[in-house]
Amino acid sequence: MAWRLEKKQAVRGLSRLLLASVAGGVLSLGGFGTQAYAQAPSAVLLEHVRLFDGTGTAEQDDMAVLVQGPRIISVGHSGHVKAPKGAQRIDLSGKTLIPGLITDHSHVGVVSGTSVGAENFTAPVIKAALDQYERYGVTTVTALGLTKSPLFDDLRRAQHADGATGADLFGVDQGIGVPGGMPPEGMVKVGKDQIFRPATVAEAQQAVRTMASEHTDLVKLWVDDFRNGVASQKPLPVMKPEIWQAAITEAHNQKLRVAVHIHDLDYGKRLVAAGADIIAHGVRDEPVDGPFVTALKDRGVWYIPTISLDEATYLFAEQPEILNDPVLKAGLNADLQKQFSDPAWRQKVAASPLAKASHAAVAMNQKNLLTLYQAGVKIGFGTDSGAAPVRIPGFAEHRELRLLVEAGLTPLQALTLATSQAAALLNLSDRGVIAPGKRADFVILEADPAENIAAVDQIAAVWRGGVRAAGPLVPR
Ligand SMILES: [Zn+2]
Repeated sequence: MAWRLEKKQAVRGLSRLLLASVAGGVLSLGGFGTQAYAQAPSAVLLEHVRLFDGTGTAEQDDMAVLVQGPRIISVGHSGHVKAPKGAQRIDLSGKTLIPGLITDHSHVGVVSGTSVGAENFTAPVIKAALDQYERYGVTTVTALGLTKSPLFDDLRRAQHADGATGADLFGVDQGIGVPGGMPPEGMVKVGKDQIFRPATVAEAQQAVRTMASEHTDLVKLWVDDFRNGVASQKPLPVMKPEIWQAAITEAHNQKLRVAVHIHDLDYGKRLVAAGADIIAHGVRDEPVDGPFVTALKDRGVWYIPTISLDEATYLFAEQPEILNDPVLKAGLNADLQKQFSDPAWRQKVAASPLAKASHAAVAMNQKNLLTLYQAGVKIGFGTDSGAAPVRIPGFAEHRELRLLVEAGLTPLQALTLATSQAAALLNLSDRGVIAPGKRADFVILEADPAENIAAVDQIAAVWRGGVRAAGPLVPR
């Protein structure tokens, strides 16, 4: 019921925007189509704040950000930004303002608590997850497959509209997996209509055309044997080259870019050569080499490390004290809390070959990320949150930032990936930085993330589309 109401409001926001567009010149700076906004939204001046604008340049002290409606109107030093008469003023002395975080690789409607399955692909489950992302400061989410339209298409449109609550939503409809292979049916347990598993070139082409007709933002392929570095694990059948080539060619015919799940360097190289646009996970089996770096750079391919994916396999089993972290508690439901508190579960996970392999995967992923980052490869930001119960929406993104810093990036370099770079990967020019004309999606932190990336946990408030939407993350 609540969802319906919000959706109605969102649709109203959208038609208002369309009306305004007809009125002309609305999306230009400062003008919000006065005919459409009979009652212009009042302006808010956030002042005396330390600003990280997302571009990668140094923070600036004592800044002011003027917001009106869903957009940022101007940015400058406090005292130099003129606020219209009657504007609300908010003093943010001591706090830091950063752009809303953006994940380029997550999933929605797969997991709810500890349950995984087709029954979770519903508007209320997805909306609850988008609300949780937003509480953690993640204001834009990309669901990389395992969905289906019309529900997914409807949800994305509703989340794009002004006035929507919860994170904005982009992504892939079903995506293309392998009969009897990735993504493993026993793990993701999605409905047969939430994934294509083409056996022939013609079926692969048809799968892409179906996704295009459903307005998918991207196409996703899974090319992996799912051994995850465990030598004793029986490999699953891997997508055949003629299938991936047909899917990539058809996607490009349809003007769609292709994101590829890989684990191993060899598949990464072959998929880049075949025309993949986005590598959706870090290379975890061996160090990346010169030819791979050159191919990524020459072809302008994006690379999303998703380091926290493998860390989540062992983190909660090996570090039970993390259960006392209020930042984790903010994203835990009772079922997950119970599982993490169970010594038998912890012992079983910690002793598993996958836990050992996951430590190695994290280390290799971090090493490769640093190599590629320093070589100037385009790096996005993602986690695979929402694909399994331990990959907790919002919390996973905060872990990813820490793991990027542990890998050798500065906190502001890591935050640049999670903001402007993540937006650029999605070809979204309206967000990811704090600048005039951009969406007013931002996070206000109690502490300075440049000094310690853990400051991202200290969320005072999250603004989405010019409205204070959430915060603080941890009640004070
Ligand atoms: Zn994924």
